[in-house]
Amino acid sequence: MKKIYLKKHKEESLLRFHPWVFSGAIAHIEGAPEEGELVAVYAADGTVLGVGHYQESSISVRILAFQTDRLPKNFWQERIAAAYRLRCDLGLLTVENNTYRLVHGEGDFLPGLVVDVYGTTAVLQAHSAGMHVERQRIAKTIVETVPAVNAVYYKSEGTLSLQRHFGDIEDGWLIQDHSSEPADGVYWAQENGLNFRIDWLSGQKTGFFVDQRENRALVEKYSKDRRVLNMFCYTGGFSVYALRGGARMVHSVDSSQKAIDLVDENVRRNFSACNRHQSFCTDAFGFFSRQENEEQERYDLIVLDPPAFAKHRGAIKNALQGYKRLNYKALTQIASGGILFTFSCSQAVDKDMFRLAVFSAAAMAGRKVRILHQLHQPQDHPVSIYHPEGEYLKGLVLYVE
Ligand code: SAH
Repeated sequence: MKKIYLKKHKEESLLRFHPWVFSGAIAHIEGAPEEGELVAVYAADGTVLGVGHYQESSISVRILAFQTDRLPKNFWQERIAAAYRLRCDLGLLTVENNTYRLVHGEGDFLPGLVVDVYGTTAVLQAHSAGMHVERQRIAKTIVETVPAVNAVYYKSEGTLSLQRHFGDIEDGWLIQDHSSEPADGVYWAQENGLNFRIDWLSGQKTGFFVDQRENRALVEKYSKDRRVLNMFCYTGGFSVYALRGGARMVHSVDSSQKAIDLVDENVRRNFSACNRHQSFCTDAFGFFSRQENEEQERYDLIVLDPPAFAKHRGAIKNALQGYKRLNYKALTQIASGGILFTFSCSQAVDKDMFRLAVFSAAAMAGRKVRILHQLHQPQDHPVSIYHPEGEYLKGLVLYVE
């Protein structure tokens, strides 16, 4: 195995089990590792720190195993089995629920790997060259480990830019099972007893936002007799839960027509002949302005779940402005006694920054606002205590008078 030696004192974070080796910490590399190759990492004094995947990027190595210079035997089997065991222990696999995240990267000690399960299919996403190289072995291990899963789809086109080394990354089946394929090619999965069409072929992320399961259930609880707006609805997760919760009406808004088609289909599938739901393919700010101008009926529950406004640290300032503007719009328009669910999934924007942006919006709107809940990502998106960067989803539930 090729060896990487760190500069003096650059071993500290690895001794504390943080799994990233930044390029600036490297003193020298023995040999020329290929993209995605396993390498052993050493401190300047020769102490073995760990073994991980090499990549030519600012994060040069993602450590898979610490305090060793070789990957333990049965590494993949053990890590994936441990991830599966945790999901079983969490009680996530029930007759009502077959949608969950099986592997959450660093949070499952498998940096660079995301796997979401939808019934009999696992969708695998590589965020590192190493996981791309290992995709076939990982797929095989998943099928051997998770009894319900018999097919694995690879969806990394959008997440990896490795053309320089591997050519174009192509999405497609790693393991296919024709016997469990639906005749019409349309896959459905169940989340808390509700059905959702999962379009991993052309959908965002792995086809569905698995991370809002618990928060959707909370929206359901507050929806009775309320007029609900689900802004940035995508597949309409929050809308379908609100309808089951007895919402008087639900409006779903997204700027993508594909998303709107999915919401409509999901609502039809769960509630035949539902006349409480309407969808709008339009821009969020445009929709709020129209509400203002036309003095439409007010909403008593609004969900704001926008895409990540800050994809990197440099974009934080603009992102905070964006969150402030958006929340201001919602806070000025929500009815008295209304409940606002507001989220940020930008990893670069932490809990306190987000709360400050929402606080500024509340002050500007001049409403009386109280915090009812502070929300986060669910248990199948665990955060390694050694890798706080794994925490990304945060939300506030506000009571607005
Ligand atoms: N709440 C969703 C996930 C939202 S993802 C769920 O529970 O599954 C963010 C969504 O915002 C995407 O579907 C994207 O199409 C939409 N979007 C992005 N920019 C937008 C804008 N300016 N106005 C309205 N929707 C937008």
